[in-house]
Amino acid sequence: MNILSNHNISNSLKINSKCRFFIEINEVTQFENLYKFVNEQKLPVLVIGEGTNIVPKDYFEGVVIKPTFNKVQYNTNDSTVSVGSSVNWHSFVKEMIKNKIYGFENLSLIPGSVGASPIQNIGAYGQEVSNLIARVDCFDYVKNKFLSLSNSDCNFSYRKSSLKDKPYIIFNIDFITNGFKSLNLEYESIQNYIKDNNINLSSISLNRASEIIVDIRNSILPDPIQVPNVGSFFKNPTINKNEINTSKFNLEDLIIWHHDSDTVKVGAARLIQLVKNDLENFNNVSIYSNHALVLVSNGKATQREILSFANNIKDVINETFNISLDIEPTVIN
Ligand SMILES: Cc1cc2nc3c(=O)[nH]c(=O)nc-3n(C[C@H](O)[C@H](O)[C@H](O)COP(=O)(O)OP(=O)(O)OC[C@H]3O[C@@H](n4cnc5c(N)ncnc54)[C@H](O)[C@@H]3O)c2cc1C
Repeated sequence: MNILSNHNISNSLKINSKCRFFIEINEVTQFENLYKFVNEQKLPVLVIGEGTNIVPKDYFEGVVIKPTFNKVQYNTNDSTVSVGSSVNWHSFVKEMIKNKIYGFENLSLIPGSVGASPIQNIGAYGQEVSNLIARVDCFDYVKNKFLSLSNSDCNFSYRKSSLKDKPYIIFNIDFITNGFKSLNLEYESIQNYIKDNNINLSSISLNRASEIIVDIRNSILPDPIQVPNVGSFFKNPTINKNEINTSKFNLEDLIIWHHDSDTVKVGAARLIQLVKNDLENFNNVSIYSNHALVLVSNGKATQREILSFANNIKDVINETFNISLDIEPTVIN
């Protein structure tokens, strides 16, 4: 176990950030020593993958742990595949597609690692990773204990799981390889793409479906390598429709999806678009031109500036619509 001091925390917002200790770990036998170190130090701990969904501060007075488990192993006895947490998510999706395994294709091109995927139950285009997970293997660095969690132990819901605030290091995930038998092309933007490009529905293969998702994503989302960002900065809020303030805009101006008998889900991107002119201007952070839910930095923004901008957006949305927005990425305090 190699312990580095004052190490950079690499992150897709390109915030200049360092931590007191940084530890890479690639063997389960090292967890015991890690437990001892973490408990001796009595410092906060942050587990990271590729840093595409964190908002770190300039200096984290704590221990950053980066698991580097990268094995992929097929278990034919129970139709699952065990995947190390540091495997890149999109590379794994491509491997599933190459092996004609359905269910992963709509999650193509989501940045980050396999290990982070259950934390916020990554999702896109009508699919969520919770539909594909059989088990999550973790190490509890507070109790010095291994856990193998079933899908229901993780309490998955929209961009949420019970893993997020737990002291767990996820080192392996078992995914179901026989859960889906066909493509799901129902999502509105996929349907529009098929129509606009005159594609014959029955000609769409698993690989083509993934390419379609990649094309759509590339047309609306910035590449974090070129433009610092963390994807959607806010979750789509679920609220009671009657509570929406309609004094400034009509309900027809909003994007509203039915959720259950009492609540609706509201498109946060449209809310931000509608109030764009009421927002304060910041020097180093702004709203991405092709997608209002994405905040982009010029590479000079600090955590403080990004959060000030995010809080200004939240305040204006609250004043205008009586809707409270939740921040999606992990903010490191
Ligand atoms: C351009 C762009 C588009 C995106 N699009 C989507 C999208 O469509 N849908 C979607 O859901 N998300 C999307 N995201 C968000 C991001 O891709 C996911 O949240 C991804 O799972 C983050 O992976 P990561 O390895 O970078 O995690 P990190 O950013 O390193 O960490 C994220 C969280 O997971 C925890 N964590 C990471 N690894 C582990 C581990 N091994 N054990 C325990 N905890 C861990 C961290 O503590 C942190 O709380 C997008 C991001 C970007 C930049």
